[in-house]
Amino acid sequence: MWFKDTGVSTPPPPSDLSKPLEPGLYIVATPIGNLGDITLRAIDTLRRCAVIACEDTRVTGRLLNHCGIGTRMQRYDDHASEALRDRLVEQAVSEPVALVSDAGTPLVSDPGYRLVRAAREAGVAVTSIPGACAAIVGLTLSGLPNDRFVFAGFLPVKDKARRDALEDVAAINATLIFYETGPRRVRSRDAMADIWPARDIAVARELTKLHEDCRTGPASALADHYRAHPPKGEIVLLVGPPSPQAVAADPDALLREALADLTPSKAAARVAKATGLDRQDLYARAVSLKSP
Ligand code: SAM
Repeated sequence: MWFKDTGVSTPPPPSDLSKPLEPGLYIVATPIGNLGDITLRAIDTLRRCAVIACEDTRVTGRLLNHCGIGTRMQRYDDHASEALRDRLVEQAVSEPVALVSDAGTPLVSDPGYRLVRAAREAGVAVTSIPGACAAIVGLTLSGLPNDRFVFAGFLPVKDKARRDALEDVAAINATLIFYETGPRRVRSRDAMADIWPARDIAVARELTKLHEDCRTGPASALADHYRAHPPKGEIVLLVGPPSPQAVAADPDALLREALADLTPSKAAARVAKATGLDRQDLYARAVSLKSP
């Protein structure tokens, strides 16, 4: 079991301004760009909490200022000392404590996991005030299938580790969602175009902001476009699911896709890793698919 069953119920939703906020830990989502996306419950909760645990007091301070909230802030991330975490948990036993990140939903590629875990283990009531999350905004904009999706977070920095991570998820029959940052973007997109030249990918950038933009198309075409026009700003990268033939465990479809840029031996290795099928059999098949 992940968490002790403490039997603690979540605090009631903070909606009645005449009553003080119940003690507990309140996970509060904040905007990912457009400050207008802060919710009424978020403002209400942040205003009435005793303290706001946040990644960067300057970033959260700007939001609080914008909303006219004067609550005290406490810098916190998952690398914070255990003593600080224990103090916040202890405080949440008797007072309402909020947790925010720099942007979006805390714990989604952001700090908070250890604090939530510690609070639950200590029997503290924990509740979540939902709001913006870049992964979901990107998914809804992308035009890619959304009945099944997998959030894969940030890809590793090193080329080989990144390629291995992409190959690990290659056979999943769902839209894959990745976060990207700075110079890593171009390399991630190129790696995706190498591995999945025929799959649709979407580049969703500057979501909820003035220059919001989302382009969807075959990975190879999009990689060419963005090589010529390097995208600026924050980005969510999405990869559409494998083609229906590949999903029906037709290894030929996966092999053909891999053979677009790999030797039969490497294509067989990639498909073997993605499907668990025998590498020698796949190699023989790849050679016959390759021969005219
Ligand atoms: N907790 C946040 C959430 O709920 O989306 C994500 C935080 S993570 C540290 C930051 C990454 O989220 C960025 O590198 C980018 O991939 C994505 N992101 C955040 N805001 C974005 C935006 N406005 N447009 C596109 N991507 C964004």
